[in-house]
Amino acid sequence: MLRFAPSPTGDMHIGNLRVALFNYISSIQRNEPLLIRIEDTDTERNIPGKEKEIFEILALFGITHQEEQLQSNNLRFHRAMALQLLHDKKAFNCFCTSDTLNAKCEDGKIEHRYDGACENLHPEEVIDNPLPFTIRLKKPSHPITVNDLIKGESTFAPNDIDSFIVMRSNKYPTYNFACAVDDMLSDVSLIIRSENHLNDTPKQIAIHEALGYTKKIEYAHVPITLGDEDFSVKWLLEEGYLPEAISNYLILLGNKTPVEIFSVKEAIKWFDLKAISKATTCFDIDKLKYINREHLKGLDPKELSRYVGFADEEIGNLAKLFLEEASTLKELRAKVGAVFAPKEVSKEYKERFEILRALTQKAPHFDDYDAYKGYLSEKSALEGENLLKPLRLLLSGAEHGPEMNDLYTHIKNYLKEVVK
Ligand code: GLU
Repeated sequence: MLRFAPSPTGDMHIGNLRVALFNYISSIQRNEPLLIRIEDTDTERNIPGKEKEIFEILALFGITHQEEQLQSNNLRFHRAMALQLLHDKKAFNCFCTSDTLNAKCEDGKIEHRYDGACENLHPEEVIDNPLPFTIRLKKPSHPITVNDLIKGESTFAPNDIDSFIVMRSNKYPTYNFACAVDDMLSDVSLIIRSENHLNDTPKQIAIHEALGYTKKIEYAHVPITLGDEDFSVKWLLEEGYLPEAISNYLILLGNKTPVEIFSVKEAIKWFDLKAISKATTCFDIDKLKYINREHLKGLDPKELSRYVGFADEEIGNLAKLFLEEASTLKELRAKVGAVFAPKEVSKEYKERFEILRALTQKAPHFDDYDAYKGYLSEKSALEGENLLKPLRLLLSGAEHGPEMNDLYTHIKNYLKEVVK
C-alpha cells in the first residue's frame, strides 16, 4: 500500500501535488493500491471544504486511488496504541506545560526541549495528579538510521529524537503518532512525502519499534521546490494551465526524462523515483508556460475550442494561431474573446474601420482571404497599410497577431458576427 496524506489546512500547492503524482505513479508501477488519508487531527488548523477540494484536484489530475481514510476516524486506534505504550512502559505521562519547559530552555538548564522530568514518576504521583498531561514516547536507546530512496542514508542520535509527545493534553494524537499508527494499520510499504518530514521519520520509526512493528517500510523524501507554496494548484488551474501540463512539469522538475513533453501515462513506463535529484529545485513559471503551450498545441482542435468556450473545430484552430503569443487558456480565451467582442478603435483608425465594417456586413461570402481583401479594397479604395491596419483591428480586435490569411480561414464562417 502507498499513501498520500494531505492535511486539509490550506490550499493544495504544487509541492503537494508533486508528492501525490509520485505516489500515484509508484503505486501503479509496483502494482500496489494507493490510499488517500486526510490528516485532519489538527482540528484547530483544519479548514472546512479543503478536503473536498483535495479530492476534486486529485480527480482532475487523474490520480485515482483505491482507498480513502479520514485520520480522525482512527482516533480510537491512536488512543489504544498510546495505552499499550504506557502499559509496556515505552511511554509516560508528562505534566510539564510548555511554559515550564520553555523557561527551562531559556535558563539554559536543558539542552533539549525535554529534560526527562516526568519520565520516572511513581504511579501514585501520576494517578493523584489532577493536572492535564501529555504522553511522551521514551527517547530511543540507540541511533535510528533512515534509508531513503532519494536522499540516501541519514542517522539520527537519540537526543535528536528525544522523548517526544505522542498524545496531546486534549487527548488528540500528534502528527507523528497518528501518522505512524495509521501507516502501520494500513500496511504501508513505501512512504513518499516531502523532505520537510525527514526529521519526523526517525520519530515514526521509533514509534513502530516501540509498538513492536517490524515491517520494513521504504522511504522517499522528495526534495523541496523553492517557491512551491506560492503557487496553489487551484490558482494554476484558474489561470488556464492544463492538468496534463502541470503534471508534465512536476515530473520533469529535478529529473532526467527521455523526452521533455509527455503524459503521466507515458511517464509511468520510465519514471524512476530513485533518479529524482537530491537537490532543491526552483519553481519556474516560464518553463511551465512553455510546457503548457506545447500541450495546448497538441490538443484536438474541438477540445481546445471547448476550453475557450465554443464547440467548433474552427475556433480550436483559431485558438492555436494565438499560441505564438499566449501560453495559458486564460490568455487564449482573451485572444479569441477579442475577435468576437465589440471593438474599441482609436480615432486614427475609426473612419477606415467603420467603412470596412459596413462593407463586410453587406459583403457576399468569400472563401478566400485575398478575394475578400480585394473586394474591400475595390469598394473602399483603401490599400496597403491603410487597409490592413484597420482590417486587422476589425477581424481580431488587436493591432498585432497571426497572419491575416490564417485568421480569415478560421473566422470566415463567423464573419458577420465578428464585425457586428
Ligand atoms: N499531512 C502531512 C502534510 O500534509 C503529510 C504527512 C506525510 O505524508 O506523512 O504535510
